[in-house]
Amino acid sequence: MIPIDPLWLLVLPLLFAMGWFAARLELRQGQARQRNDFDELAAGVEALLEDNSQVAMARLLAAIRENPEALGLQKSLGRYYRQKGLPDRAIEVHLALLGRSDISEPLRESTLLELAHDYMAAGIFDRAEQSLDLLAQSSLAQQALGLQLDLFQRQRRWADALRVADQLAAASPDAAALATERFHFLMELGRQDQAAALCPDHPRLQEGPEPVLGLHVCAHCGFQTRRHYWQCPGCHHWDGLHPIQ
Ligand SMILES: [Zn+2]
Repeated sequence: MIPIDPLWLLVLPLLFAMGWFAARLELRQGQARQRNDFDELAAGVEALLEDNSQVAMARLLAAIRENPEALGLQKSLGRYYRQKGLPDRAIEVHLALLGRSDISEPLRESTLLELAHDYMAAGIFDRAEQSLDLLAQSSLAQQALGLQLDLFQRQRRWADALRVADQLAAASPDAAALATERFHFLMELGRQDQAAALCPDHPRLQEGPEPVLGLHVCAHCGFQTRRHYWQCPGCHHWDGLHPIQ
C-alpha cells in the first residue's frame, strides 16, 4: 500500500473550500475583502505544499478567523497539528472550535473525538477520558469506546478495559470479537478460570512465575526487549512479541 501523506487530508478539503469561498465571496463581499481571504488561504496551502508547517498554520488560522463558516477546516487544522507531533496546539485549536456557539452537533461530536485523540497524544489521560465520556450517548459512541479501550490499557486499568471490551464485543456481530484482549484482561485481574473459558489453548495459561528471557521483537511495531511480555510495551498489542533466534 502506498502511504498517504496526512498533509493531503488537510489540503484536499482546503482546495474545495477555496473554490467555495471564492464563489461565495464574489456574491457577498467587496473586492478588497475577497482578495484578502483568498490570498490568506492560498498562501496557507502553498506553505503546506512546501512543508513549511509554521507559516501554513499561521496563514490558515488567519483565514479561519476571517471566515466563521470554515469551522470544518479548523477541525482539520487541529488534526494536522497533532499529526505533526504538536498535540498542545491541536488541543488549543479544537478547544477554540468547541467554544463556539454556532457549531453543529455532528461537528461538535467529531471535534470532541479529535480532542480526545489530542489529549491521548499529549499524555493527558484524565482529560481524554472526560472528552470520551461526553460522547457516550452520541452517534460516535462506538468510536469513543474504541479509544477508551486504548486509554484504559495504557493506564493498565484492567477492570475498566474489560468492561469496555465486553461492551464492544456485545455490539459486534463477531462472537469472538476482542477474545484475545478480554482473555488477557481477565488474566491480569487474576480471573484465570474465566480467561480459560475464552481461550482454552492460550500458552499464557501454562506460564511459570518467571518471564521467559532472551531477545524478543514485536511483530506489530518492531519493539525489541530482552524478556517476553504478553503485551508489547511499545504498541500495546497482545501476543505480538516473538523470540529472535
Ligand atoms: Zn509492538
